[in-house]
Formats: sequence, C-alpha cells, structure tokens
Amino acid sequence: RDAPQPGRIKRLDEAVVNRIAAGEIIHRPANALKEMIENSLDAGATSVQITVKDGGLKLLQIQDNGTGIHKDDLNMVCERFATSKLKRFDDLSTIATYGFRGEALASISHVAHVTVTTKQENSPCAWRAFYADGKLKPAKPGMSSDPKPCAGNTGTQIVVEDLFYNVTTRRRALKSPSDEYNRILQVVHRYAIHNSNTSFTCKKHGANTADVHTASSARTLDNIRYVYGAAIAKELLDVTHTDDSYNFSVDGYVSNANFNTKQMTFILFINHRSVDSSNLKRAIEAVYTEYLPRGTHPFVYLSLDIEPGNVDVNVHPTKREVHFLNEDKIIESVCAVLQRRLADANHSRTFYTQT
Ligand code: ADP
Ligand code: MG
Repeated sequence: RDAPQPGRIKRLDEAVVNRIAAGEIIHRPANALKEMIENSLDAGATSVQITVKDGGLKLLQIQDNGTGIHKDDLNMVCERFATSKLKRFDDLSTIATYGFRGEALASISHVAHVTVTTKQENSPCAWRAFYADGKLKPAKPGMSSDPKPCAGNTGTQIVVEDLFYNVTTRRRALKSPSDEYNRILQVVHRYAIHNSNTSFTCKKHGANTADVHTASSARTLDNIRYVYGAAIAKELLDVTHTDDSYNFSVDGYVSNANFNTKQMTFILFINHRSVDSSNLKRAIEAVYTEYLPRGTHPFVYLSLDIEPGNVDVNVHPTKREVHFLNEDKIIESVCAVLQRRLADANHSRTFYTQT
C-alpha cells in the first residue's frame, strides 16, 4: 500500500449533500406517501386518491380535495424548512398538526421529479409547477420555471416520478416493486382506518379497479372490516377512555378472546400520526396472554391523544418508534383499560353460553 498523501479537505457538492440528507428522510416510496397523505389530511381533504406505478418507484401520485396551495407559495413548497404549519418558534412545543418541519416535500424533490398542481377555492384556475432539488424548475430546458395556469379542481395533486433516480444505491436496495406496493397499501389501509371520514382510493397505474376504496361516509369499523375481513370485525371490542391524571385519551378497537392470529396486527396512531411503540405493543401482548392460546396474537387498533408537548413523534419521518412523557404510566393505564374491557366481554360471553 502506498503511504497516504497528506490530504486537503474539500466540501461535497451541495446537491450531493442534499441528496444524502434526503435519502435519510425518505427511505422508500411508502415513507414518501405517508408524508403526502398527512399533508392532504392537514389540508382538510375528504378525498385522497393514490395512483402507483412500479411500487411507487416509477410513479407515486396523490390527488386530494383539500384547501390547495396559494399560487404565490408555490416557489417555496419544496424548500427545506418552509411550512405553513409553524407560525412561531414557540409552536414547536404545542403544535397539534402532524408534520411541522417542512422537510418532506423538500426531501422528495431532491431524489425525484416532482410536479405540483393545485387550486385554492377562490382562485379562478389551478396552477402547475415542476421541481428539482428543492427549487422550481422549467417544464422544459430554456422555458421559464414560473408556475403555469391550468384547469383543475380545488385541491392538490402531487406527482412524484422516478424516485431515487439519482441515488443508485438506494434504488438498487429496493428490488421488489410488489413489496414496495404492499408497504404502500399498508400505509393507505392504516390511514383509511384512522380517518374513516375521508375517502381513500389506491390503485396501480392503468388498472381498472382500485385495490383500496373506502367511502367518506364509512365508520371505523366498516373500514377495519373492509381491510381485515368480517372474521376480525365481528370479534372487536370498542375501547374508549380518558385519563385525567396523565392527560391523555385512548380510542380504538381490539379483538376479544374469540379471535386470534399468528401475527399481531397493531395499528397505533398517536396524535393522528401512524407510529410504533414497542413498549406499548409488548405490554398489550402481555395482557392478552391470559385470554389467547399460546403463540397466538390479537388485533389492536388504538388512537392515543397525548398532549403534543409530551410526545416526540415528529423528530424524524422514518423513526416511527416514539416515546412520550410518563410513558410507563400511560402504558399501564391503557393496559388496565384493555384488561377491564376483555374481562367484561369474557364474563358476558360465559354468561351468555350458560343460558
Ligand atoms: P410540512 O407538512 O411539515 O409543513 P411539507 O414539506 O410536508 O412540510 O409540506 C410543505 C408545505 O407545503 C406545507 O406546510 C403546506 O403548506 C404545503 N402542502 C404540501 N402538501 C399539501 C397539500 N396536499 N395541500 C395543501 N398544502 C400542502
Ligand atoms: Mg408534511
């Protein structure tokens, strides 16, 4: 080996730095979609329509009927730390809407071609803009990059094409479009269950029928039945509880002792973001050991509202695992609620079979 030459430090190209940072935030199509669904919900959408090609690697399109984006904001939409959801720095501790970093679209635009078409209700027409590397770009080289007027309904359509076209390693790691599509469906299923007032559709590009289609008039239970089937839906117990000592509330549906499955389905939303908490999951599994045959597991959908200042859900889009203040106490209290609900249900079942 040659002796090392004294090296000089060079700065990486800014575009490369941004691409690396973006790849840390957006790992795969399903992450990008989750961020975009949350944006649509933040914008008050009651309809969210998703179209996917090649597991989202070729095309990931989302159309909503939310408030739309002001034409004069289109230059900032894909800029890092540009957000309409954080007005003062103080809001960081109390903000209740889902995302607040203004990093999602910026990241996506560093690793994909992004087109935004949007119309606010009082605007006479829709506007379309193209983005690359966080900035507006012309539709064709040599043209102006200004947003162009076009026809469109109130709401926003975001088209993400050729995800990771400029990150070869990431692209290579995502070998299976059908696996990516399944992850996408899982995100849509969860958000559809948690937002039963919003209609979700998800289909493959060019397909005649949708793989997910929920109605805006659906109830939570309807959407659980639709996604997971009647066998689960008929064995669910509703859970609802407000805890004043730790200032949180919990709502949801959990399976009773009649139902069990090889792998636990655990759908958890905290403050309306889909997250993971392995501590809570483990604790709930422990509650069920008393009711289920060995080696089998329950279905659990829970929505927790915790004071936003006490929960750390927004640190990083790909860090789904969350922690919150008084975590042990809150988990204990949630488990006590489930335990009571299961015991009551089991008691009435015994009673019923005896008479
Ligand atoms: P954040 O959601 O954290 O603000 P994003 O990068 O996800 O950051 O989005 C940047 C901004 O773009 C949002 O604050 C919002 O103003 C606007 N935006 C993005 N998607 C939509 C949408 N579907 N409807 C309306 N506005 C949107
Ligand atoms: Mg967002």
